[in-house]
Amino acid sequence: MSKGTLYIVSAPSGAGKSSLINALLETNPTYDMKVSVSHTTRGMRPGEAHGVHYNFVSVEEFKELAEQGAFLEHAEVFGNFYGTSRLWIEQQLDKGIDVFLDIDWQGAQQIRRQMPLAKSIFILPPSKDELERRLNARGQDSDAVIARRMDEARSEISHYTEYDYVIVNDDFDVALIDFKAIIRAERLKQDKQAAKYSSMLSALLAQQ
Ligand code: 5GP
Repeated sequence: MSKGTLYIVSAPSGAGKSSLINALLETNPTYDMKVSVSHTTRGMRPGEAHGVHYNFVSVEEFKELAEQGAFLEHAEVFGNFYGTSRLWIEQQLDKGIDVFLDIDWQGAQQIRRQMPLAKSIFILPPSKDELERRLNARGQDSDAVIARRMDEARSEISHYTEYDYVIVNDDFDVALIDFKAIIRAERLKQDKQAAKYSSMLSALLAQQ
């Protein structure tokens, strides 16, 4: 069995990153894909649950975990700390499970340095107007917060050139097909196929 692939997925808020990852996992019948649950120091939002959306911790707990080397990467994103659990990721990859990291560009840079085989995907909204419309449609934020999120989006998007793949999420169904195509193509790489079909290949190559 070959190791799982680590996928880094980044996007500005409102591009549809979480919806795409959730849709991918819901339509995958084989349970060989998982999303990493990060640690964060930000407050819980309505509808979020501890251990499901994030592991919510205090700044002190976060710093202690960081000092212990528990994080594969960690970063401060818009005033809060976020980190990815090292041990859990390594265990999943060893079991052949593909793992998705929903992290920002800073985390992506740290992961690429440590795990050069990781694949990275950037999700773009089709336009500024559409991004603003989607942020407004959530109905949660004030105009000032939306304006700040638009600024943050510009800063995140400026890093798209660092990624292996780019998906434009204009039509959600098309974006999901693109997302699935990336994972499928990665799974068809020669080394993955050789590991998956090792006995079939030995039989095909055996002398008569
Ligand atoms: P939110 O607080 O809206 O859930 O996430 C804010 C940003 O933090 C998003 O861009 C998200 O991808 C990023 N993020 C979430 N978890 C992590 C993590 O573990 N590491 C890093 N570097 N960024 C993260």
